[in-house]
Amino acid sequence: MDKKTRDDLLKLFQSKLNEAMRLYLETCTRCGICIEACHAYASMGQVRYISAYRHEIVRRIYKKYFKGRGKIWPSVGEAKELSEMALDELYEAAYSCTGCRRCMMYCPFGIDTQMLMSIAKLLLIGGHAEPEVLMMLADTSVEKGKSLDIFKESFLAGIKKLEAEVVKKWRLEAGKKAIPVDVEGADLLYVALAGAHSIIPAAAVFNAAGENWTLSFFEAVNFGAFVGDPTKTKLILDRIINEAKRLKVKEVCICECGTAYRTMKQLSGKQPFEVSAITEAHARYLREGRITLDKSKFKKKPITYHDPCQIARNGGVIDEPRYILQHLTDDFREMSPDPRYNWCCGGGGGLVALGEETLDFRMKSAKVKVDQVQETGATILATACDNCHTQLSNLNDHYKMDVDVQFLSSLVADALVQK
Ligand code: SF4
Ligand code: SF4
Repeated sequence: MDKKTRDDLLKLFQSKLNEAMRLYLETCTRCGICIEACHAYASMGQVRYISAYRHEIVRRIYKKYFKGRGKIWPSVGEAKELSEMALDELYEAAYSCTGCRRCMMYCPFGIDTQMLMSIAKLLLIGGHAEPEVLMMLADTSVEKGKSLDIFKESFLAGIKKLEAEVVKKWRLEAGKKAIPVDVEGADLLYVALAGAHSIIPAAAVFNAAGENWTLSFFEAVNFGAFVGDPTKTKLILDRIINEAKRLKVKEVCICECGTAYRTMKQLSGKQPFEVSAITEAHARYLREGRITLDKSKFKKKPITYHDPCQIARNGGVIDEPRYILQHLTDDFREMSPDPRYNWCCGGGGGLVALGEETLDFRMKSAKVKVDQVQETGATILATACDNCHTQLSNLNDHYKMDVDVQFLSSLVADALVQK
C-alpha cells in the first residue's frame, strides 16, 4: 500500500474517533465473556468469529497510528500496520459480522462491535475493497433520490396493478383508493420495499384501520448503511425525510426492514414527524380497536417469532409483536433465550444482499438459530424483517426445518375481520 493511500485511510479512521469509539478501542480487558455470544462462533467454533477477535484487528491499527506506544515501539504495543493484508482481515471481520450487537449485551463494558466494524467498513471503502454489489445498490438508491420524475410513471403503473390484490384482503368503499400515493396532508407515510409482499398486506391493514396514509415513492432499504458509507446512508435517508416534509405527514412508518427502521429511527435527527415500525402501527390499531383479527385462521398451527436484531435488541420494538401475536393465536411459542438475547438469524449487515457469495457462511454460522427455532416445535416462523425472512427461508430449505416462514404483517392481513 502506498503512503498516500495509507494517509487517506488514516484520515478516514480519524474521522470515526469520537469519544465512544476511543473508549471501545481502549477498554477491552480480554476477559472472554463475549466468546460464546456471537452466533458465528457458537455455531462454527472458530476463533476469528469471536467478537473481541474482530475488535482486535481494528484496535491494533489504532495502536500503531493513534497511540504513542504503538508509534514508538510497535511490537510491544501489538500494533498493526495498515496494509493490503490488514484490509483483507478487516473484510473478513466486518463481512462475517451481522452487526446484531448480541455480544454487546454480554460485554461488561458494553463494547459495541457494530461501531468498531463501521471503522473497518469505512477503511474498506477508502481502499476500494468494499463489496461492489452493496456499493452499486447504494449508488442506485442515491440516484433515484435525485431523479424522481424519471421513474414516477412506471412506479405508479406498477402500484395500480397491485390494487386488486389489496381489495381482496380488505373490501373498500367505492371511490376509495386501495394504495394512495403522494397524498399531501396524509397522516402517515408508509415506506415499503420493492415488491408486492411489502405493499399488499400493509395497504390492506392501513385501509382496514381507516388510516389516512400514503405510500412513499422510495424504497425503505438503506444500502448505504449496509456498506458502511455515512454520506450515502444520509443521502438515502434524506430522500424519505424530504418526501415526508413535502407531504406534511405526522408519522413515517417503516416496513418490515430492520436496517431501514434503525437508520430512520436513530439517524434522522429531530423532525416534524414520528418514526414507527409497521409492527408498532399494527399493535396500535389493535389496542385502539381499529382492526380485529380472527384467531381461527391459524388454529392448530403453533407460531414462534424471530425478533429482527435491528428492530428488537437495537430498536426496542419487543412488546408490540407479542401483543399482535396474542391476537393471532392461542399457541404462541416464545424462543429461548428471550428477545434481548435472541440469536441473530445470521443474515444481517448486508450478508443476505450479497446472495450466493455468503450463502455457505450464512448457513453454517446460523446453526444455533436453527436449533433455537426447532426447540419451540412451532410450525409457523414469523418475523418482521425482509432480510431475516430471506435468511430464515434459506435456513428452512438448507436444514429442512419444515416451518412456514411468514411476515408478521402478512399474518395480520390474512386474519383481518371485515366489519
Ligand atoms: S455484533 Fe453480532 S455478529 Fe457481530 S460479533 Fe457481535 S454477536 Fe457476532
Ligand atoms: S466481553 Fe468485552 S471486555 Fe471482555 S473480551 Fe469481550 S469485548 Fe473485551
